[in-house]
Amino acid sequence: MTDIATQRREGTTILEIVRAAASDADQEFAEHILWSRTPFPFGKVTPKQIYKAASRVRRAAANDIALCDWCDQRAADEDSVCANCRSALGRSTNG
Ligand SMILES: [Zn+2]
Repeated sequence: MTDIATQRREGTTILEIVRAAASDADQEFAEHILWSRTPFPFGKVTPKQIYKAASRVRRAAANDIALCDWCDQRAADEDSVCANCRSALGRSTNG
């Protein structure tokens, strides 16, 4: 079975693209980038978007910064959601 990170896209696998940004990336990390940090599977995803997302996550991890699960902005301390998304989520559930 071939999983999505190793399927070829425009001649290069997603794992190879992710490794260009984060050389120690493994399969699981590549899957995380694709599913959680790009519009995939709902929108068209380019190799450049995958590279940029992987690079951003790698830089954030290197600097011990948590990114928002929803929008990739910097998350609030001890949280996985940024202030903007926390506010928006609060509105949608309370309003
Ligand atoms: Zn956010």
